[in-house]
Amino acid sequence: MAAIRNTLTYLVPDSFSVQPGQRVQVPLATRKATGIVLRAGSTLPPGIQARPILRLLDTEPVLTPELMELGLWIADYYVAPIGEVFRAMLPLRSATRRARSVRLSALGQQKLQEISQPEQEPAGPAGDLLAYLATRGSASVQVLRKKFSEAFLEALKEKWLVVDEVERERTQRQVYAVRLAGPVPEKPLRLSPVAKRILEALGTEGTAGDHRELLQTARADLAALKKLSASGLIELDPSKKSSLPGDTWAEGGTPLVLTPGQSTVLDDLTKQLESGQFQTVLLHGITGSGKTEIYLRLIARCLEIGRTALMLVPEISLTPSVQAQFLARFSSQVALLHSALSENERHEEWWRIRRGEAKVVLGTRSAIFAPLSNLGVVIIDEEHDTSYKQEETPRYHGRDVAVVRARLAGALAVLGSATPSLESYWNACEGKYRLAALPERVEGRKLADVEIIDMRQEFRETHTQVPVSRRLKQEIETQLSKRQQTMILLNRRGYSWFLLCRSCGQTQRCVNCSISLTYHRREHRLICHYCGYSAPVPARCPNCDSQHLYYVGEGTEKVEKKFAELFPGARVARLDRDVARRQGQFRHILDEFRRGQIDLLVGTQLIAKGHDFPGVTLVGVVSADIGLGLPDFRSAERTFQLLTQAAGRAGRGESPGRVLVQTFYPDHYAIRMAAEQNYEAFFHKEMRFRRMMHYPPVTALANVIAHGAKLDQAAQVAKHVGNFLIPLEKNTEGLKILGPTPAPLAKLEGRFRIQFLIKCTSRARLSTILQRLADYTDQQGIPQRSLMIDMDPANIM
Ligand SMILES: [Zn+2]
Ligand SMILES: [Zn+2]
Repeated sequence: MAAIRNTLTYLVPDSFSVQPGQRVQVPLATRKATGIVLRAGSTLPPGIQARPILRLLDTEPVLTPELMELGLWIADYYVAPIGEVFRAMLPLRSATRRARSVRLSALGQQKLQEISQPEQEPAGPAGDLLAYLATRGSASVQVLRKKFSEAFLEALKEKWLVVDEVERERTQRQVYAVRLAGPVPEKPLRLSPVAKRILEALGTEGTAGDHRELLQTARADLAALKKLSASGLIELDPSKKSSLPGDTWAEGGTPLVLTPGQSTVLDDLTKQLESGQFQTVLLHGITGSGKTEIYLRLIARCLEIGRTALMLVPEISLTPSVQAQFLARFSSQVALLHSALSENERHEEWWRIRRGEAKVVLGTRSAIFAPLSNLGVVIIDEEHDTSYKQEETPRYHGRDVAVVRARLAGALAVLGSATPSLESYWNACEGKYRLAALPERVEGRKLADVEIIDMRQEFRETHTQVPVSRRLKQEIETQLSKRQQTMILLNRRGYSWFLLCRSCGQTQRCVNCSISLTYHRREHRLICHYCGYSAPVPARCPNCDSQHLYYVGEGTEKVEKKFAELFPGARVARLDRDVARRQGQFRHILDEFRRGQIDLLVGTQLIAKGHDFPGVTLVGVVSADIGLGLPDFRSAERTFQLLTQAAGRAGRGESPGRVLVQTFYPDHYAIRMAAEQNYEAFFHKEMRFRRMMHYPPVTALANVIAHGAKLDQAAQVAKHVGNFLIPLEKNTEGLKILGPTPAPLAKLEGRFRIQFLIKCTSRARLSTILQRLADYTDQQGIPQRSLMIDMDPANIM
């Protein structure tokens, strides 16, 4: 599946019978490539010289007709090469990695059982190989190559009967119990620092139930643990297997009783579902109104009527608690599809769905391509979340694809949010979607009180620029004295925002991107948040040699440190992407916070999304307004969503919650209306701005960026784009071209970027124009990587 826009024609040898949706191996120039059969015909189009297909990779199609149609729609609408769309839809193995050993997959084990039934014909070499693996657990590729042929082994891999061994540890989620083998000798001989840390972490009892927690405490890895075990000082007991993900999170107790509001919405959705007609419902339910319970019951009903269900959640919301609830309700019928799975795990889940064993799929964005048949309902939770938009080719929006998929399947689509995207709410106002509302919280809980703190006044009165106002500090002290938990939200990670020279005013910028580097104290380096470039902290200004370098702004790292100083008795922790990246830390901190072992949690928007912490009664927003300064027409919408979601974190349990919002723009409508938690007021105000400025959802928008390693290369590409677009503007109704201008991020990852923003009153017309633009630039010989076409962009930076 190469990144070609066109489709190719091949001859089908008489011995093969191919069907659309099947994978085949074909010759492409001088190499072999994998292709998907789109159509099979009986005659060759005239004038075509076709080469024959080499072999079939599947006995049955991997893509159902419905998914084929969905793929073609995506390729068309988002102007993406069809091959790349199919690649994004399928869990294909990467060709580059070579494993040293392989094992049987779950599918292989099943196959072996089937073929070893006594009434079956002898299974031949495939059966031999599977049986060989079954008796040994796994075997090296080298040995298997000698016993069987390499092509034969590859063929079994293609069918997912055999999978690479590398991921085995993760797939099985092996957990070791660890204990000291005996008393530690008085003078341990030459222990490495990491070994010392492990022994120290084992504590006075000398045992640990779960090696992963031990390694976290000791800042060590499994290899170090095994080495120590080999030395005889400790013993590892591998007998314990981890239970299902989210084991410690399972919500106990009796099923919840629905509120009258929940019942009404559920009844309405159930009727829609049972009608078997395609329909999209926007479920606008405020934070804490019990949307998840409605989803779970709707899915249960869907299974009862013999159909399947799919639910998408934003990447970061796929917490153990959501997984646990699904597993508790639907047990083995659930398949999980998300980016943390290994390639093999994904294959196995994918085939469980394809074979019809899993009837409920819970996953993140790309799970929208799960091969469920007879789909009855598609639910998009937190539908406003930007993680549904894929920021690489194919640049599809998971929410919009979900609606199309529901239409193709004759299913019900449910989009749920406390802060719907303007697009979806507009569609509901226009009658395209049905609107269902949950205006009240469950169990009569009150919405949090929100108080705005004017940081301009704070500065006038204190004459110091501090991250924490006197009011917030005092409130946190009260919280601590009452032993209640507080969450502090700010939306910049790192220590300081940037390093500024006081003499010449220059900031240290990324060499690849036109953006300031952020100072990270833990690494003591300057890091680019866009491309990951990092540089040492200079002692003097590289521009003017001045020594007066000054750290500006507070990131999560600095605020965490500051809070630890301000509140010496408090247990302070931090949660942002830097922390989440460290294996297991994300869940570990969430767990501790939930158990009340942390008093004060500082974090980015990661903590504002979808987690339910019953003990949190105060949320402090330190810098509510950073986002408002960004040159993106959605900045007010984003700020409103973030603040409303953050406010929804407070007081979800028994005690009412309070929210303190520090801002330099206390009068901005996004901040004021978030404080009132008044979505409708915000929607109408923001729509006035979008109408006036001709921005979505009133018009369709596309972002086209010409790239180049050198500025004049980008300019050359932009010239071709302009040649095509600008004459079109005059004779196309409702079309408006802005640009060419340097993109707000004029340089990114070492490439210069020139931007066109294209607005059109019709989405269909705009998509057609973009397809023609892609064809035109192909004809001009412009390489595809020099042009980014983004239909319905989530982000125009
Ligand atoms: Zn300087
Ligand atoms: Zn960069």
